[in-house]
Amino acid sequence: MNSHKLKRMFISLLYPNICPFCKKQIEWDRYYCESCYTKLDFIDIDKIPGETGGIIAVCAYDEAARSVVYPLKWDNYGYSAWAAARLICDRLEALGESFDVVTAVPMHKKDFNQRGYNQSALIAKEISAITGIPMSKGVVKIRHTKSQKALREAERRTNLKGAFKVRKPADYAEKHVLLIDDVCTTGSTLSEVSRTILSSGAKSVTSAVFAKTIKNG
Ligand SMILES: [Zn+2]
Repeated sequence: MNSHKLKRMFISLLYPNICPFCKKQIEWDRYYCESCYTKLDFIDIDKIPGETGGIIAVCAYDEAARSVVYPLKWDNYGYSAWAAARLICDRLEALGESFDVVTAVPMHKKDFNQRGYNQSALIAKEISAITGIPMSKGVVKIRHTKSQKALREAERRTNLKGAFKVRKPADYAEKHVLLIDDVCTTGSTLSEVSRTILSSGAKSVTSAVFAKTIKNG
């Protein structure tokens, strides 16, 4: 049993293990219940083409996915990070992809202090624990930016220009990097962070997210 499983078993002795979607109690070694799993709208294409490396997404960002993402964003909810990480790892295993380092889309210090944690880093940390791929926090957000939600596509790109910086280039140089975020809407944040990491000498950057907004029509 690896340390990730041991930790989960130990925690389950103190707190009941629950499904982050419906909050029902589940076995200690499960990450979600079967009935919630079947409600997820899984994305069946291997990789959504992106400007850099492409995006691996587990499911569509709908009502079912939101029930995991919301608590992750606002309550530092460990069960949600476990479930999102497990589902991303299942997808990576199915694709047979391998990586040298895992890293999360960073938050600006101001946002981090407000929330108290980075939800994408929680997922990345769990992925690192499950797979044994080392985690790096070598990329940082150096400029505070407007919320991407209110902006048009072209504005989103200028809004993010120069917002990220690689603090530890050695963490990424000559490496295949897995970049983690919880949700992807247009992919402009993932593109900008990927470009920043590639500029420090990474061989490739592939993004993986739990949920992706799917445009209708
Ligand atoms: Zn459930």
